[in-house]
Amino acid sequence: MNFFSSIKFRLTRWYMGTMAVTLLVIGIGAFFLMSYNLHRNLDESLKVRVSQLRSSIEAEGRRITIENRAGDMVWIYWLDGSLAGSSDPSIDIPDIYELVKRIAWYGSAFHDTKAKDGQELRLFGDMIQTEEVSLVVVVAHPTAEITGLLVNFAYALGVSVLAVILFVGVTTLVLTSRVMKPVEQMTRAAQEISVKDLSRRIAVGSDDELGRLGQTLNSMIERLEEAFDRQRQFTADASHELRTPLSIIEAESTLALSKERNANEYQKSLELVAQETSYMAEIINKMLFLARSEAGKEPLNLEEVNLRELFAELSPDMEVLCRDKGLDCNLGPFDEAFVQGDVIKLKQMFLNLWNNAVRYTASGRVATSAIRNGKTVTVTVVDTGVGIAPEHLPHIFERFYRVDNSRSRADGGSGLGLVIARHIAELHGGRIEVESRVGEGTTFAVILPLV
Ligand code: ADP
Repeated sequence: MNFFSSIKFRLTRWYMGTMAVTLLVIGIGAFFLMSYNLHRNLDESLKVRVSQLRSSIEAEGRRITIENRAGDMVWIYWLDGSLAGSSDPSIDIPDIYELVKRIAWYGSAFHDTKAKDGQELRLFGDMIQTEEVSLVVVVAHPTAEITGLLVNFAYALGVSVLAVILFVGVTTLVLTSRVMKPVEQMTRAAQEISVKDLSRRIAVGSDDELGRLGQTLNSMIERLEEAFDRQRQFTADASHELRTPLSIIEAESTLALSKERNANEYQKSLELVAQETSYMAEIINKMLFLARSEAGKEPLNLEEVNLRELFAELSPDMEVLCRDKGLDCNLGPFDEAFVQGDVIKLKQMFLNLWNNAVRYTASGRVATSAIRNGKTVTVTVVDTGVGIAPEHLPHIFERFYRVDNSRSRADGGSGLGLVIARHIAELHGGRIEVESRVGEGTTFAVILPLV
């Protein structure tokens, strides 16, 4: 990353710019205030000098004596413009005569000028009228001192402003570098996290905004990892599950084609191929359903469903299942219950549970009942089958988990029935619970929210 486009540099530039403008405004203000005060003090002191001189004037005809203890530059003119006397005749001021005329006409006046020797001067003149005479007195003071003071002040101000701006710049750069360090660490860590290594996390140090950003990124990576894991698992499961039927199809067809066979033998081979193909199609359909619904792409056609009616529609299917195995299947107490649901998916969920109950029950009964309980309804499917051992119970809702692999497969089980059933229950805001005792039977309870 280019340093000049970094936040560090931009913040520093902004701070330095703002500080420079602020200090310049303050500096220029201070300079003009100081200049104004110095000039005003000078003018005041010139006025004071003239009034002191006024009180010390003595006139004897055209002879004037004046007491100039402070050693000021003083010029005294008669009102007709002729010079009555000066403190230092060597100082030549070219435009003093115009000033005298102005004072004689209009009264006191200040004037800035330059003597012939190049000296800058501030002049103040006033009329002095005693009983004997009327005169114009002009007092001058060099301004070099004030100019020198102002130049020094401006110089000091400029150096201080530059020093402060530089200090602010360096401090801002150091501070922003420290503040941005965790961001850079996060960026590096995020760059190092690849699809192959999503288990890594960004180090979260503090509980501030950046800490929260780190936590948010970590939970995003966690979700990504879960999604990738699911995808990996899906691919692994799919290939594993489809390998067996494919091997059977391959072996059977190779055997059938290895020599000339009669029609009966071909038919048997083709029946096996068709059976395995439909098994594969069922697995693929179930997996696609799970994948779509986990990605939120399986649409739910929600409507108000009367569970009693739903089971009445399912009962012919259930009866066929039970009759085939000689089981006693019945509907137990069934409360009137309405849920918000997708009829097709709800039927699929209950049929999966029924199928399992019948599949894993050799003799006895399978009963279904529905009990309302506050804001929920609990539909239970109870069987008197083989039961599930406690060590298997936590796993039966995992994909392709079968307690007895060969038996389940022989019975047409795909290991996806319960995963799908639980998924459908969750899509409806419900859950499935299970209780089982080996050799005694199993109870699956579907708890759904009522409308
Ligand atoms: P499958 O298609 O193999 O039945 P499921 O996901 O429906 O897959 O069930 C997972 C496993 O849970 C089954 O292999 C079976 O061992 C066990 N199981 C499910 N329902 C029952 C039941 N009612 N009685 C005994 N075992 C069951």
